[in-house]
Amino acid sequence: MKKKLHNFKNLYSFYCPGCERIHQVNNKWKINISNLTISPSILVTSPKGSDDRTRCHSYIKEGKIQYLGDCNHKFRGVTIPMIEFEMSENGDYIDPFYEDFKKKDN
Ligand SMILES: [Zn+2]
Repeated sequence: MKKKLHNFKNLYSFYCPGCERIHQVNNKWKINISNLTISPSILVTSPKGSDDRTRCHSYIKEGKIQYLGDCNHKFRGVTIPMIEFEMSENGDYIDPFYEDFKKKDN
C-alpha cells in the first residue's frame, strides 16, 4: 500500500527525493501520523568512514519536507510535498544510515 509515512513498530519511514532513498526515524521524535508532522528536525549523515557524502537536514511539517540550508543535495533550502511510496507491510526495510540519524533541536 502506498503511503507518505509508513509506520512499523517504532520505525517511521518516508521517501526523501533529495537523497533518493527512504529515511527512517524512531519514536524518540514527536510524530503526528494523521498530520504528517515530525519534530524536531531530522539530520541524516553518512556513517563514519563511508565514501558517501550525504548530509540531509529537514523538517517534516504537514505533509511537506522542508530542507534546511545545510543539506548537500539539490533540494537544499527548498520545501517540497512528501511523496507516496510502496513499502512491504512487514516493515523489513532498514535504512542503511539509520544508526547515524540524529535529532536536532532547532
Ligand atoms: Zn535525505
